[in-house]
Amino acid sequence: MSLMGKIGRLLRSGTVSALCLLALSAPVVALGAEGVSDEDNARFQTFISTFRSEVLAEGVTAETYDLAMSGLSPNVRVVELNNSQPEFVRPMWEYIDGAVSERRLELGREQIDANAQLFDRLEATYGVPRQVLAAIWGMESNFGRNMGGMNLFQALATLAYDGRRQDFGKSQLIAALKISQQEGIPPSEMTGSWAGAFGHTQFIPTTFLAHAVDGDGDGKRDLWHSSADALASAASYLQRSGWSGDRDWGFEVALPEDFNYEQANADDERTLSAWAALGLKRINGDPLPLGDMEAEVLLPVGANGPAFLITQNFGAIMAYNSATSYALAISVLSDRLRGRPGIIGAWPYGEEQLNLAQRIALQEGLEQLGYDTGGADGIIGPNTRAAIREFQRTRGMTPDGFPSATLLTRLLNERQTQR
Ligand code: CA
Repeated sequence: MSLMGKIGRLLRSGTVSALCLLALSAPVVALGAEGVSDEDNARFQTFISTFRSEVLAEGVTAETYDLAMSGLSPNVRVVELNNSQPEFVRPMWEYIDGAVSERRLELGREQIDANAQLFDRLEATYGVPRQVLAAIWGMESNFGRNMGGMNLFQALATLAYDGRRQDFGKSQLIAALKISQQEGIPPSEMTGSWAGAFGHTQFIPTTFLAHAVDGDGDGKRDLWHSSADALASAASYLQRSGWSGDRDWGFEVALPEDFNYEQANADDERTLSAWAALGLKRINGDPLPLGDMEAEVLLPVGANGPAFLITQNFGAIMAYNSATSYALAISVLSDRLRGRPGIIGAWPYGEEQLNLAQRIALQEGLEQLGYDTGGADGIIGPNTRAAIREFQRTRGMTPDGFPSATLLTRLLNERQTQR
């Protein structure tokens, strides 16, 4: 296939945007050495000089600011990633399968063996199992092999001067400058991802300032050069986010035939004994452990997929990264590292997952039929789930609150016939 043919295919699949193409092909507008227009560069330089006084008022010294910020230009790759809205959504099963790879499990077991004493100490101090910390380490940076190579100040300043993440970029930029100053780390050594995450455990700067700890006892917090600092910081952050050493993240369950799907709801916490009384079992058929530990039912892709009971520890992982898919990947990876089985229940392979435009269309359709989604922003939150359940309930569908492709089709057909 020709290069243009490949690019055309990538464009259609949504993996590159026209802006990225600009970087690949001959420039058609006046571009500087960094691939940005003179106009953009001028606005960026204005931002760098006007933001200075705001940052100095926060206690950052002029020396720190100038050392990190002078001579920077916008990063065109960051602009491109900041603007991208993927047209195609990777199904959760593909994401989980990719996350829980044999290679990652192998590396994880090696790191658990190689750092046994550190993990002993972290488990005793924070109550977070080594397999969970290893799973996070593997997911975030492939055990330190991929921590992101962008200049953190350039990336954050690019987010801060323009685009849809300006407030985030500004607050993270100020925090990054404070880190350089407080920890004595030269700005040139502070590299990370385009969105400002850095080090072995990919903390963003504000999370570092709030939660990072010194894990190797040298008096400094350095998530780039010290995996002990990074892992201790992750353990501390999980503990402060509600992780409790007396319980697991949760486990996969088999739902009874007559399960009331209204109960698969983040607001519906019940004790394990209460769930057992409703007929829920472990996925292998064993009875649930009884007790007054609270848990909720999670159906990551709706009624037509695997089911889980999750505890507050699952919620602590979501404080780290708010995507359910991420928390489930960490959970399953940690189980596999313990020698437990992975997910047993069948995923709905082949079922399309709604992209942003389709989620917005679903919300708009629900609104037009009189169901309140709390706005059509493409984010499936509690209001949208409640609206979906109400729609499903009144039409005799399984009320799982999940935004499936089947649901969208039915909704659009209904609106069609109403016209
Ligand atoms: Ca340290």
